[in-house]
Amino acid sequence: MTSATADARPSLILRGLVAGIGAGAFVGLLDASRALGSANELIQPHDAIPVVLFYAAWFAPCGIVAALVARRFSWPFRMLDLVIALGSAWFFVVAWANVTVLPGFLSGLSITVDLVAAAAVIALGVVRYRAPGEDRPHTGRWALLGAASALIAFLMPFAVSDRDDGPPPQAAWAPSPYGPDGGRQKLTRPNVLLYVVDTLRHDHLSSYGYAKPTSPEVDAFAADATRFEDCRAATSWTKPSVASLMTSMMPSTHACVEHREVLVPEAETVAEVFRVAGWRTAGFSDNPFVTREFGFAQGFDSFDGTRPSVLTMGTLLGKGLFMTGIFSVAGNPAGLGVRDERGCKVIHKGLLDFVDASGDKPWFAYVQAMEPHLPYEPSIDDAVAMGFPQGERFAAPPRFTGMLPFMQAPEPDPAYKAKIIAQYDGEIRGWSRQFGVVIEELRKRGRLADTVIVLASDHGEEFHEHGGWTHGHSLHREVMQVPLVIRLPDALCWPSVPSRGRVVEGTATLLDIAPTLVDLCQIRYPRGEEATRVGRTLRPELVSSEGKKVSKFIPSTRPILGEVTVSPMALRSLKDGRWMLLRSSSPLQTFRSLYDDVSDPRHMHDKIEDHPAETREIEAKLDEFFRRLSSVALTGHERAIDPETAEELKRLGYTGGK
Ligand SMILES: [Zn+2]
Repeated sequence: MTSATADARPSLILRGLVAGIGAGAFVGLLDASRALGSANELIQPHDAIPVVLFYAAWFAPCGIVAALVARRFSWPFRMLDLVIALGSAWFFVVAWANVTVLPGFLSGLSITVDLVAAAAVIALGVVRYRAPGEDRPHTGRWALLGAASALIAFLMPFAVSDRDDGPPPQAAWAPSPYGPDGGRQKLTRPNVLLYVVDTLRHDHLSSYGYAKPTSPEVDAFAADATRFEDCRAATSWTKPSVASLMTSMMPSTHACVEHREVLVPEAETVAEVFRVAGWRTAGFSDNPFVTREFGFAQGFDSFDGTRPSVLTMGTLLGKGLFMTGIFSVAGNPAGLGVRDERGCKVIHKGLLDFVDASGDKPWFAYVQAMEPHLPYEPSIDDAVAMGFPQGERFAAPPRFTGMLPFMQAPEPDPAYKAKIIAQYDGEIRGWSRQFGVVIEELRKRGRLADTVIVLASDHGEEFHEHGGWTHGHSLHREVMQVPLVIRLPDALCWPSVPSRGRVVEGTATLLDIAPTLVDLCQIRYPRGEEATRVGRTLRPELVSSEGKKVSKFIPSTRPILGEVTVSPMALRSLKDGRWMLLRSSSPLQTFRSLYDDVSDPRHMHDKIEDHPAETREIEAKLDEFFRRLSSVALTGHERAIDPETAEELKRLGYTGGK
């Protein structure tokens, strides 16, 4: 008996390895097939092979471990393959459930589910150990049971998708009329620089009132431009936010929402509009989500981006590894072929080369710089200038992969938090200096006289204000409010003059940028006005002859929506008048909170208990709004919008105007 077991050892491990690879390849094939079935997913047919290999490589060690466990408990060999296959599939389901269905690996709920799952597997092992002789009659039944439960667990999240919430509640919507658009100036064809700096909090810029001198160059630029005091993003992380900025659609409509979804060709980007109108177009991105592979190159004659790894960005397993930080080095997904950030100096050189090569032809350039994004690694001089303690090492980046309020990070040590913020501010300081260089280079070339420059960020950043870190996990103002500064050349506004040093107090959104640029340059969307675009032009704020501070153009009653989805968790918000309702839902829990967005801009005091009637009313509006937006979602296939929905969207939209 002993010698038989010893003889079988190599073959046992080999069989475990083969079974693990087989199980991995099977699950990889399932994942790739699911992705290939949707036009919104990153994976292309030729990616199926690396995806299958990726899964096989991940599952192979699981097979060996299962074989070793089986040997320890002297399981009959006949059962081994089944045990390994079920164990691998079970591991996959539990791990995957942690990052999709459950609110992250570290929440109480996830840990409970994991413990129950582990107990079930152990119980299975004990039962088999106690009854080693009677494997054959039960094998089929067990296999069926295991396969059925794995299948149910795998399919469950798809069944609880939040796309269809049943019949909509009736909501009364008043149209939001805006004053007439100012008079048209004579046609010019200005250049456009749309500059997005990733992860830049508005309130960490000196021009927005920050105490530290983070941004002298941005402040100088703002003093010569129009600064929007309150600009909101549509969501709190890069990919859906930039897609919204480029299309003026909410994420529910452009449907480029989740980790591996792409912006489909049906989405009409502002770059496409300018290219059709005859502008030369170029994109320069340092963010691995804003890339050709994710559909962001549409409309650009040239697009200089960082190639994302299909494995990290495109598979469920990759998403799990990415979100749990297993393949993340210093905050960057460096483990699977995603290039580290290149730095804005490299991006700026590409931009200026493009400007020089364009000559007298009008151009449209998009820039996405990454400096304030994790990792916070400024030059030591910039960090010290922003209060970082001299002679100390940089603090490790905060890690937080859950969603608020389902889970929260522990209270940080104040010294750690101060270091992190000083490092972040140092990144802003270094980036601002380089931004100043770009503006100066454009000035030297005479380009300030014929270029519209928009400076914005795609979202903010949290430093544990509500128990989280970084972004993409909540809809509070620290992650949703962003800087927006727009500078117009004099010639564009002739015979009027552009505003210089103006501060606009009403609420703008990133979705307004595309309609504003289209309006300023007096070009048209090739497919005409579409109700799916919900931004409005900010031209009246930019060219009016009013004084330094204007607040009358954008009404305070403007409804402002926010959303972030990590399926099947969905966070939604609606600012309606002074109230901001936040709703966070998963299949297992729903949280609602209500803030006075005017008197409590930091969202520190939840008023939901005191205002049940307002809550019900705003929630009904929120549901109606998202039902309409989702009903026209782009799925990679042209879909006709019925006239009634188009009319409703127009009425519900931020404007009803352009
Ligand atoms: Zn971003």
